[in-house]
This record gives sequence, C-alpha cells and structure tokens, in this order.
Amino acid sequence: MNTTAKVIIEVKDLWKTFQTGGTTFSALRGINLSVHAGELLAIMGASGSGKSTFMNILGCLDRPTTGQYLFNGVDTTPKNNTELALVRRDHFGFVFQSYNLLPRTTAFENVELPLLYFGFKYGISARKEMVMAALKQVGLEEKALNKTNELSGGQQQRVAIARAIINNPKIIFADEPTGNLDTRTSFDIMAIVQGLNQKGATVVLVTHENDIADFASRKVIFSDGKVISDSPNVHCKNAEEERAKLPELLEPTAAK
Ligand code: ADP
Ligand code: MG
Repeated sequence: MNTTAKVIIEVKDLWKTFQTGGTTFSALRGINLSVHAGELLAIMGASGSGKSTFMNILGCLDRPTTGQYLFNGVDTTPKNNTELALVRRDHFGFVFQSYNLLPRTTAFENVELPLLYFGFKYGISARKEMVMAALKQVGLEEKALNKTNELSGGQQQRVAIARAIINNPKIIFADEPTGNLDTRTSFDIMAIVQGLNQKGATVVLVTHENDIADFASRKVIFSDGKVISDSPNVHCKNAEEERAKLPELLEPTAAK
C-alpha cells in the first residue's frame, strides 16, 4: 500500500443497532477503520458478523446508529437521503453477489442505467460510447445486445461490474461478488477487480473465502460486529496468474 495516499474512508466508533419485535441487536459494535485511496481491502468474517451491514453504511446505502463516517474527509452522517444519493451516484460503484441486473433487458441497458440518473448530462451517443467502453473493459462488448437471462453467471457479474464502473467511481463496493460462482469464474472476476484497482479505484471487497481475500492488499476480519484483526496481505496474489494455474476442466467425453 502507498502510505502517502490519502485517507478516503474513515469511520469512528461506528454502531448499528436494529430493533426487531421489541428486541434490539447491535450488528456493529464500535468500528474504527481507515482506508487509503488505492487499497484493495477485503472484509472477512463468519456469516452474520456484520460485513454487509458495514459495507452498506460505507456505500451510503444505510446509516449508522451512532458514530461517524467520513468519506473523502467529509462527514456523511448529517447528510439527507438526496445528498447521500448524490455521493453514491458521483463516487461509488456497487457489485453484489446476486448481480442485481434488471430482468428482460439487455447488457447495454443495464450498464447504461446509472447514466440516466444524470438527467440530460449525457446524450445518446456519449452514453453509447461510455457503455461500450465499460463493456469492453470486462470483455463483453460482443454481448451488449444480449438479454441478461441469456448470459452465464460470470457474464452477468461482468455486466454488473461494467455498470458499477460506468461513472469511473472512486470506490467500488463489492459484497461477495464471487459468492455464486465457480473457482475459475471467481478468479476471472477477481482479475477484473484487481485490474480496476491497479487503474486507481479503491476497492472494498466483502468475502468469507480465503482464496478470494488472498487477492486483496489488506485483510480486515469481523467477528460479532467488531474488527478482530486488521493486517496488510504481504502475500497478495495475482488473480490472473492463479487462474492460469488452475487445471482446465475437461467435460466427460461421450461414450463411443
Ligand atoms: P454478514 O454480511 O457478515 O453475513 P450482516 O451484516 O448481513 O452479516 O448481518 C449482521 C447481523 O445483523 C446479523 O445477525 C443479521 O441478522 C442482523 N441484521 C442485518 N440486517 C438487519 C436488519 N435490517 N434488521 C435486523 N437485523 C439485521
Ligand atoms: Mg453479507
């Protein structure tokens, strides 16, 4: 990690408490964490340890109950919903385990969608150029006009990544992006994620798989809503290289 890089995310004594049916439960219990621009941070931990709750707050999709979250040095906690939506639109890209693509629409239309939130800022030809460039970055320009249900899981996740990067976000938030994919496809997706990180995007990656977190530059481990470990990943692996080492899966040959 470049230690002179600026702090892009800073959280201070962050708590998130849910009220359900008369009981209260704190999913986050006093998180303190800073992320520097350019990091590829893996958040790990058992199911239910608070990873998604934390990522949703970092992505301004949810608010903390108490504590502070500074993005780019600016406290997000006093912002209203409209202001938070603008932070998301202008600075963040999101990738989820279940792709969250619109059904019965093409890859192109899905990737174009975030641009429509800018009103008249981008005309049709500018949008087309941006969408095709994003699809090219994930190796899917030839599938632009395919409907999402005609694509494999790995291809759908690539569309979701193209949608996430269409506005050149400072931070990409990815919550278990490889959770539904086989090892090879997972490594392909992580190769794309590492490529985006090398081009300058900060990445916050939630995963509970060690072989996926091995591609991050830093690992933070959650347990019961607290950070129990935070360390640089000195043995950070290259996803493209690891992908090349996997044996090819041969389909069984038909009996003669
Ligand atoms: P992880 O992503 O690490 O699996 P989550 O952040 O999704 O964990 O959830 C952490 C804990 O908070 C879990 O016990 C979960 O049931 C609880 N939780 C998450 N969201 C809500 C909610 N909206 N209402 C009540 N409890 C919630
Ligand atoms: Mg989760």
